[in-house]
Amino acid sequence: MSKPIRHILSLSGGKDSSALALYLRDRVPNMEYVFCDTKKELEETYEYLDKIEAYLGKKIIRLCDERGFDHWLEVYNGFLPSSQMRWCTRMLKIRPFEKYVGDDEVLMYVGIRADEDRQAYVSTKPNIKPVYPFKEDGIKRDDVFRILEESGVGLPKYYGWRTRSGCYFCFFQRKSEWVGLHEHHPDLYQLASEYEKPHGNGQGYFWDDKESLAELLAPMRMEQIKRNAEKAQRKDGEAQSSRLLDTLDLADSDNETPCFFCHD
Ligand code: SF4
Repeated sequence: MSKPIRHILSLSGGKDSSALALYLRDRVPNMEYVFCDTKKELEETYEYLDKIEAYLGKKIIRLCDERGFDHWLEVYNGFLPSSQMRWCTRMLKIRPFEKYVGDDEVLMYVGIRADEDRQAYVSTKPNIKPVYPFKEDGIKRDDVFRILEESGVGLPKYYGWRTRSGCYFCFFQRKSEWVGLHEHHPDLYQLASEYEKPHGNGQGYFWDDKESLAELLAPMRMEQIKRNAEKAQRKDGEAQSSRLLDTLDLADSDNETPCFFCHD
């Protein structure tokens, strides 16, 4: 007898996949919820997953590559991952997920919304079939916020200063988010900074390839970044209450949209 199809939803720790989990709780009762943990996530992400777990009344299975980021950094000769060479997503998110799935037939639930034009990672494994309930049901950004608010789960705390889920040192961060990291988690900023070591031909040295975290830390530079971020927000001419939503929109429309395993 063939095995039944498995239903799996991979949470990134961000708003869309979280809202999708809440949305599908009663629709797909045999859902398996997973989170690919790089062990370099923010504590706010773990707190948020706990809240979601409580709402779902079901364990979120934590998947982890047993060798971890530092091992792979060595394998990649010390080259920090970047948008051009995103080995971190492959090794720490996608591979553990595919290992967990094995050869079973799987429906994989992806939180891409009806108002998004974003490509998702689609496994090349023929046994993994992606499905897009938000797209199918016409769920848009405002609906996602409503789902999160009505459930009482709300948004993750880091949305006050950062637009995306993912590792604390993620290279997709904006300058102002690095400043936010420094203000909220100076210890993590320090750790991220310690990864910036020269090696080989000098490439792959900084998280943000033009400026080191040490340079960014200079008081005048930090002030300048904050001023620029405020200016950009003012330019939007939006009311205080909608600022967060605007920031999230900016993230959604970023040209280098990272994969949904890490961010949404
Ligand atoms: S969150 Fe960023 S640094 Fe972490 S695995 Fe994803 S792309 Fe890489």
